Amino acid sequence: MKLLGIHHITAIASDPQRNVDFYTQTLGLRLVKRTVNFDDPSSYHFYFGDGIGKPGTVITFFPWPDARRGTRGSSQVVATSLAIPSGSLNYWSDHLKEHGISVENISRFDEQGLRFPDPDGLLLELIASPQSDDIDLKFHSAVPNEFVLRGFHAPTLQLQDSAPTAKVLVETLGFKLSAEEGSRRRFSLNGESTSAQLDLVERPDDPHGHIAAGTVHHIAFRTPSDEEQLKWREKLVDLGFAVSPVMDREYFHSIYFREPGGILFEIATEGPGFTIDEPAEHLGENLKLPKHFEAHRSEIEKALPPISFK
Ligand code: ZN
Repeated sequence: MKLLGIHHITAIASDPQRNVDFYTQTLGLRLVKRTVNFDDPSSYHFYFGDGIGKPGTVITFFPWPDARRGTRGSSQVVATSLAIPSGSLNYWSDHLKEHGISVENISRFDEQGLRFPDPDGLLLELIASPQSDDIDLKFHSAVPNEFVLRGFHAPTLQLQDSAPTAKVLVETLGFKLSAEEGSRRRFSLNGESTSAQLDLVERPDDPHGHIAAGTVHHIAFRTPSDEEQLKWREKLVDLGFAVSPVMDREYFHSIYFREPGGILFEIATEGPGFTIDEPAEHLGENLKLPKHFEAHRSEIEKALPPISFK
């Protein structure tokens, strides 16, 4: 039973149009699914990723038009990090500046990167990495192929006390401590994939963040099958975690639990994937609804803010 890496990261946005424009036009990702929040169909759920929305590349948003801005702090994923090919830092730095974004240079575990906020203040990092995950580039990106984002790189999880979280990562979820730099510790599921890593940072005096626009809602890890997911569920329940039942998210199946530091973790299956309800060439072009919402499609569409897609 082994987790394969990060599956997706879900964050909160405010203006849906601005969110779509930023992640497709500025960051060059593909909108691979346009659907609604299954727990609240009056709001969109957007999934952005590589050409097919391969697990490990997917960042998703609940855009709530009137959402207030949250605050970053402890018990949160405080930086969402994505890999870029080595040699593409200058391209990205210039490209982001052309879009009016102020960029900070960062250096981490011998790699260089850029840090900047998205339009809602979500902290993003692009880390230039010589090893990159195998992603699907067969889509029209606003960014040249050679520079397209290569899926997640180690995101940063901030905690007041990182020991209990580290213990769960290592003793329960199968991570290994792979590097340490000041108060930052890197944990890996395997050494080959940038999206199989995360960093814990301990900040004892930093208050808890408040989750709203511009903050991460949860982080999901990948399991290859429904069978393994059930075994994970059993194992977590036995350890005393309050774990959700398996939820059908249409494109994958999910269980959720809160790690001891308070961050919401999800374990999601690799499949069935985003091509289950529309062909790969047309991903994201139409609003897709799960079957039980189809009968209410016209009311749902009427309630959603209109959006234009470039
Ligand atoms: Zn999720």
